[in-house]
Formats: sequence, C-alpha cells, structure tokens
Amino acid sequence: MLLCRGSALSRTVARLGRRSHPGDGLLHRTLSFSSSRCRCLSSGEVRAESGSAPALYRDTVLLPRSEFPMKLTGQKLLEREVQTQQDCGFADLYSWQRERKAKKEFCLHDGPPYANGDPHVGHALNKILKDIRNRFEMLRGRQIHFLPGWDCHGLPIELKALGELGTSGLSPLQIRQKAREFAQGAIARQKAAFQRWGLMADWDQCYYTYDGAYEAAELKVFQEMHSKGLIYQDYKPVFWSPSSRTALAEAELEYNPEHVSRAIYATFPLSTLPPGMAPDGLEGGVSVLVWTTQPWTIPANQAVCYMPNAQYSVVNRADNSQLLLVATERTASVAALLGTELETVGTFTGSQLGGGICTHPTIPDKLVPLLPANHVTMAKGTGLVHTAPAHGMEDYSVASHFKLSVECIVDEDGKFTQLAGPELQNLPVMKEGTDRVISMLEDAGALVKEEQCVHSYPYDWRTKQPVVIRPSKQWFINTASLKDKAKEALQKVRVLPESARGSLLSMLDRRTYWCISRQRSWGVPIPVFYHRETGEALINKHIVSHIATLFKEKGSDCWWQLPIETLLPDNVLKKSDAGPVTDYVRGEDVLDIWFDSGASWAAVLEEETEGETAESPLSWLPAPLRKPLVAESDTRADAYVEGKDQIGGWFQSSLLTSVAVRNKAPYKSLMVHGFAVSEKGEKMSKSLGNVVDPDVVINGGKEPSTPAYGADVLRWWVAESNIFSEVQIGPSALNSARDSIGKLRNTLKFLLGNLQGFDPRTQAVDPKQMHYIDQYMLHQLREYSIKVTDAYSEYDAGRAIRVLQAFINRELSSFYFSIIKDRLYCDPEDSLGRRSCQTVLEEILDGVTRSISPILPHLAEEVYLHAPGHDEGETLFRSGWIKSSSVWRRPGLEEAVEGACAIRDSFLSSIPGKNAAQYDLTIAIEPGLLFELMESLQEEASSTSSQLAELMTVARVTLTCALPRDLPPDALLSHGTFLINLEGGVIREDSAYSIAAVPTAAARCPRCRRYTAESADCLCPRCQPIVSQAH
Ligand SMILES: [Zn+2]
Repeated sequence: MLLCRGSALSRTVARLGRRSHPGDGLLHRTLSFSSSRCRCLSSGEVRAESGSAPALYRDTVLLPRSEFPMKLTGQKLLEREVQTQQDCGFADLYSWQRERKAKKEFCLHDGPPYANGDPHVGHALNKILKDIRNRFEMLRGRQIHFLPGWDCHGLPIELKALGELGTSGLSPLQIRQKAREFAQGAIARQKAAFQRWGLMADWDQCYYTYDGAYEAAELKVFQEMHSKGLIYQDYKPVFWSPSSRTALAEAELEYNPEHVSRAIYATFPLSTLPPGMAPDGLEGGVSVLVWTTQPWTIPANQAVCYMPNAQYSVVNRADNSQLLLVATERTASVAALLGTELETVGTFTGSQLGGGICTHPTIPDKLVPLLPANHVTMAKGTGLVHTAPAHGMEDYSVASHFKLSVECIVDEDGKFTQLAGPELQNLPVMKEGTDRVISMLEDAGALVKEEQCVHSYPYDWRTKQPVVIRPSKQWFINTASLKDKAKEALQKVRVLPESARGSLLSMLDRRTYWCISRQRSWGVPIPVFYHRETGEALINKHIVSHIATLFKEKGSDCWWQLPIETLLPDNVLKKSDAGPVTDYVRGEDVLDIWFDSGASWAAVLEEETEGETAESPLSWLPAPLRKPLVAESDTRADAYVEGKDQIGGWFQSSLLTSVAVRNKAPYKSLMVHGFAVSEKGEKMSKSLGNVVDPDVVINGGKEPSTPAYGADVLRWWVAESNIFSEVQIGPSALNSARDSIGKLRNTLKFLLGNLQGFDPRTQAVDPKQMHYIDQYMLHQLREYSIKVTDAYSEYDAGRAIRVLQAFINRELSSFYFSIIKDRLYCDPEDSLGRRSCQTVLEEILDGVTRSISPILPHLAEEVYLHAPGHDEGETLFRSGWIKSSSVWRRPGLEEAVEGACAIRDSFLSSIPGKNAAQYDLTIAIEPGLLFELMESLQEEASSTSSQLAELMTVARVTLTCALPRDLPPDALLSHGTFLINLEGGVIREDSAYSIAAVPTAAARCPRCRRYTAESADCLCPRCQPIVSQAH
C-alpha cells in the first residue's frame, strides 16, 4: 500500500471514495475461493451443455426478456404507430401543455402553406422540423404556442378551382365559392397528413387567411400603413402577367435563365445633331445605334439615353459607309458583331450629345430626344439605350425626370392596343407583335442586325409564362421608406444560418416598392371606393375600420354581397367629408397574397389589449390561446422556420408590415432551411418522375421498392439531413433511416429486457453505493444529455442523432453492455451489483428514449409503454425532458475508468483473435496516481471478481507495482502509458504500466462460462450459492 502524495491527490482519491468502510461489500466484492466448496457435476450434466448456459442452469440465469418487438414492419408498423397516437394522446397533447403551468413560453409562428394541392415532401421537411423544435421545448417545460395556418387566397387556387372553364361568365361570388371549396379540400388533405406525421398542434385551432377575423386583422395592418402614408396608388410600370391577367410582385416572379429573346440592333437617324458635335464630316447623316432584347417596345420609344461621362464615337462602316454613333468602348465588339471595319470619324464625351434629336424609325414625324441617364451601362449593347417609359422600370424613372409621356401600348392580355398603330393592334407582343416590329424596322432600313439572346427573364411563378412590363394603376407600399428601419430591426434578429442574413438584407435593398393590388376575385378586397366621375380613390381609417368590422362578422364575400350603402354608410361618408354614396363605386382589386400572409403576426401573435376585447384580432380564439405570450409579452414569435424561398417572401413581407406598424420585427429568430431534392440532387418535378410522395413513404406504394416506412422514418430522414443545404430524399436515404432506427430499437430492447422485474421507484441504488463503472456511466449519460440538449437548441437534430449514435456505439454497445452481461445475467437477482447496474440501465433507457422523442415520438412512446418506473396511463411527453443530475458528474472517476480502458486496450491488442476471458492478467504500475486509481477498482492484490476484473473481462487480475520475475514462458507482455489529467489540468501525470497475460489455469464454470471454476465439472464460487438456493 502506498504512498505519500500531495494534497491534491488525496482530494482526488477521497472523491473517488476509494477508502471503503467495513461492510461496503458492493464496492469491493470479494469472495473467498479457498473456503468455498465445489459443487461437482455429473458427466451427463457436462454433456448437456450447449451454446448457451447448460440446460440445467438456464432457469437460474437472468437473460433479458421483453415483449417489446425487435422489429416492426409493414402493416404491423403502421398499426403500431396509429395505435400509439391514440393510446398516448397525441391529439390532446397540445391543449394539455397549454393548460399546464409554465414559466416560459416558446412561440413558433407557423408560416402558412399554400392551400392548393396535396401534401408533399417539402411540407414534411418544414413541418417536421418545426415539430421537433416544439416537442423539444415542450419537454423542457416551456409552454408552446403554435397555431398551424393556411394561405388560402390567390390566383393559383382560383386557376386550379376553375380549371378549363376559366372565369368566363362567372360572378366574383361564384368564383370565390369555387375557390373556397377547392382550398378547403386541399386544407383537409394536408391537415390529415400533418396529423399522421405526428405534429403536435390543436387541429381545431388553426388560422386561415380566408377567415373573416383574419381578414379584419389584416385590414387593420393595411389601415395603419395607409394612415402612415406608406400605401399609395400610382400609375407606373409593373410586372404584368398576360397569362394570369394580373400585376405580379417581385416575389411572384421566377427568373428563367434559358429564356431566348430576338435581340436587335436598330438605328435612329439623328435629325438634329447635338450642338456639341462639330458637323465636319458628318454631313452624310449620323444614326444612333441602339440594342434591345424586347423589339416590341420600339413603338413605345420616347428617348435614347446616353451616359454623360462616357466617350462616344461616330464611326464609318467600311462595308456601306453608314455613319453610326456608339460608345467608344463598345466599338470593337460592334465591329465584330457586324463583321466589318468601323473607322472612327470623331470622338465626343457623353455630355456633348445633349440636344440631339432623332427620328423614330417606324413612326414618321415622331421625334426622339437624346437624354442623359445613370442606368446606361457599357456591359453590353452600344452604350445608347432605347427608352420606352411605359415598358421598363428605369425607362419610367427617366420619363418621370424629363416629363416624358408614359403611353401604354399593351393591353391586359399582352396584345398591342390601338395606340401601337393599326399594323400592330391586337398582335400578342411577345410573339407575332415582335415579328411584325422587326419586319417594320427592316422595311424602314433601320434593322442593322438581329441575334438570338439567351438571358435571364422573369416568368409568372405559377403559369410559367413570360411576363411583360406595362403600366397600370395599382396600389403600392413604399418599401424604400421602410428599408432602413427594416434593416435595423433585422440586426436584432438571430438568423440561422447566419449566412442567410446577407440575402435578407440584399432582398430588402432590391425592392423599392411593393405592388399589392391584384385584378382578381379570390382575395381580400382592397377597401377603397372610387368616384364615378373623377375616378378619385376614397379611402381613410373610418372606411377601412368599418369594412374590417363587416369582414369580421360576415367574411369578405360581403364586399360583393352587400349594397354599397351598407359598405359606405352615411356616418362613414360624413366622417370622410365625401359626397352622396351614389357618387361612388366599390374597388375591384384584391390584396396580394403576400400581404395576406405577411400580416399573419397581427392575426396570430398580437396580444389582446385590455378594453379592446371586441377589436382584438384574437377574440375568435378560445381563452387559452388568446393569452399567448404570458411571460414574454412583446408579441414577437421566438422563431419563424421556413425554406430559403421565403427570404424574399414571407420572411420579408412579415418584416415589412410589422416594422411599418410596430417598428419591430415579428420574430426573434429566423431559421432558414434548404429544399427537398431527389437523391441525384435534382429538383423534384412531375416531368422528371422523381417526386417523393410522403404518403407513399409512410404507407408504402405499389412497387416492392416502396415499402411502408411509417412516420418515424420520415421524421428521422428530416432530422438527420443537413437541413441548411439541399435535403436529398429517395430510397437510400429512407432505407438508411429505417436501418438506423432498427439498430436503435435493438439497443432499446436490450435495455428493456434487462429491466424486467425492476422497479426503480423501490429498487434503485443510490449513485454513491454503485459500482464505479456504473457511476462512470451516469457521468457519461450526463455528458450525453448536455450535448444532445445543446444540439436541439441549435436546431441541429442531425447533430443530436450523431451524438446519440456515438453514445450507443461507443459507450454502450462496445463498452458497457459488453462488460455488464455477466453481472446482469449471473449475479443473484436482487444483489446490489445487479441492482446497481439496472439502476443505470433504467437511467440510460429513460435518457436515450427522451433524447430521441422529439424526432421519433411514436417509438419513444412505444418504449415508454414497456418501460418500468411509472404508472399506467402516463406518457413520455407529459413527463418532461432528460432528468440528469449534477451528482452524476464524476471527472476523477472518468480518469480511473479511462485509465483502465487504456490498459484493457493494450491487453486486447496483445491477444489478437483470442478470448480475453481465458487469461489471467497481471497489471504492474509504479507507485503513483494511476496505481491509486486502479487500486480503487480492485483493493485486493489479486481478484476474479473485482470491478477491475469485470472491466478487463478476464479470469483474474493481479495488481502490483512490478511484474514478477518468474513469469511463465507463454506470458504475453505489453507496455503503455496513460496521461492522467485531473482538476482541469492542475494534476497531470504520465504513468507507465506493464501487463502480462497468461492463459488461466482455472476451468470454465458451466453456469456463467467465466474461467473461474476449479474444474470443468465444477461451478465457480460465485455461482455455487445461487444454484444451491435455486434448487
Ligand atoms: Zn459461474
């Protein structure tokens, strides 16, 4: 025995509790071998021995038993999941947690999916991510506020609902009726799927953007923004979809990078040379060369713009002597394009071009000025820009500045109007209209060159048809004036991943206004009236709030149903200083659906303020939901969790409306995830035939390659994916998810099997009384629970899974489970050693089950039904998160066990392919810290049953300061060192050890199969009394 060491060491040793008290039998279990009498077997009994414990002793060995099925597949799996949902109260869980007392709330505001189709895998990805977070927060004791919602209005629903028929001959109310029915059908199908996926919500308490109360809350936002001067009406170019006959917002565009345009180079003859250009040599007449990808806009041309600071040249075409004006730096590429030499005749600065006037190439007598503009670039074209104010955004700004006419030559169907002239009228501008304009230019001798131009061009996101730019009278939000405030508000928001913040900010920059009016019927009407004679808009807070009240009571159908006298009653007219109601007609536009959903914070998150009960947007909700944000009543959601397409969509529209009304963001954090793609990384589409249907994933399809996986596999796939990038789904991802759950199931079955007959409430062993190795596992379990909690907190369920798998593979399967089997199966049932182990196994079962429950709620509840330690009817989700204790923390112990493991590894590598159980092991360590640590695991010099012997899984361990000189010749020697690191690095000691492994002389015990018996027909000293008692 040792040893005088410093005080730090004494503390360490004291913490390990090495100095046991007399009678502390568990920690230093020793059995007296010499005095034990050997119970001998008859030769018949020996022969009866088979692969497992011999038949004679089988009933004295405590093998794992559990009714928990090893494997569930096909119909049985599906029935089990649905049964678990019913037995464990999935449907009531949300209301249950709303009603319990909680200190803190967690509000995840659901971005409303669009009610226009069947549930798809993108829904699964989004909703399951949200549910994992909600369940995690709920288990940790927070009260969850989560109202599922649907985005119900808009053209795509209208189009799908009406089908081939279109709107022809239908009144707005008829269209709305059909669209509503269509949306309701889609909502019902999506809702059923969401429930089957196991999402925690009260499915009777959802929000719908077509609900009257929701519409009223939305109008309130509209009114506030209008009162602040942020909403205005204007006539300006907007993106217009001829295929949908409506204006579109930027968020409703999809840019097609493969779009092919017929780009042209055309000349505008200069009829008046700019005074800054000397006429010498230019008498022959100079033409301005322009380039455009949209030739159909030429008839609407009002100017040609130049860059004032650039250099321009007049060049002479070598092939036909035509004089052209182009930007100097574009000369070379124009020459290459035309396939001729261009000889420079004169050079000027842009500002010298002022005062020049061209004649329009196809409209006789029409004069077109040369004007300076900032948007001219030298990246392509000629450095001289054809300007059609009605059909280009920048063109329109030039027109506003120089007071040019903004004449629209395109109608709502995308055809030329009368203004374009008789030759063009009624031709679709993108097709025959373009052809005709080009041939007119050719006839006029103005077409210099035509080429195909492949470029990115905006398409209608729903009809997949190209859009045009045309001016119309629309309602706008002045987003430019909100931009700075919105950016400031965004700085206070946590964005996950942080890299998405840049995209959010640049999206805000890109948008200077937001067109919110749509020329359709299926939406929330813009509450505005127009004067019959003047067309002037009548809108103010009295009108909007009166209409909001009507919508709340009757729904927005009343806009079309009620007589105008009810919509615009006398008292409202009076407050508005307006004339008689007969002077007015109601507006026919509805709000953009992005405004609908962008106002959801007002309908779902806003707190009811006292004295305003009747007005509260939440008064339609039942009482527990009406007071959503009890503890943190700043009416911001804790999180919005959506796909990256919402960076320019709902994230932004919600931010803009909330900043406009409340001067703050509607969310404290944003989580932005990627899209679901096929296993080849392709976007899913019906034409590619790679669409994964979540219903087929769960219930199985017709092909053998599409088995029924159940909801938990779908959830595991979501959790395991790298959700911040593209998320791949297909057979291999799903099979791998199923296999991972299968392995987990095996581990859980092993745990459950060894807990048969154990009740932790009465039989649990106090950690201080436990075997060190068991205490060590509690320490590891605590570390595990910290890591897994941390991963969930960061929305990183994938990391939670990796932490779980590492814990199961490394700590449990290959370490702990392999060394405790002897104690579990062969020690007396009620012995302290076995109960100590079972106490830990029960904690591990509970910890692991809870840790995976946010991802696999079905499996978790199924395990909980079989698990000991709670009353019937209790469910996992009603009993909280992992209950790890700080008492479990034993860093010194970690060093002891890990030191022993290092020695074990050295030993095992010295006997490759051999059975460790057949060896006696001598461990020699020089006096020091490592020796003391090992001595805490084995107090005797030599033992077959110490904790150290259990850890080494050998027949006998002898612990000594130096290897004996008289080792037998077949002894296998190995050496190593172990760095002890205690007290956070204060104690560091590199300790050397030597080990000698010698084949044991002992015989295998026929019951426990350890090599600790005196002879092969003899039970070992441990097994003897057990068998005696049993027989
Ligand atoms: Zn035995």
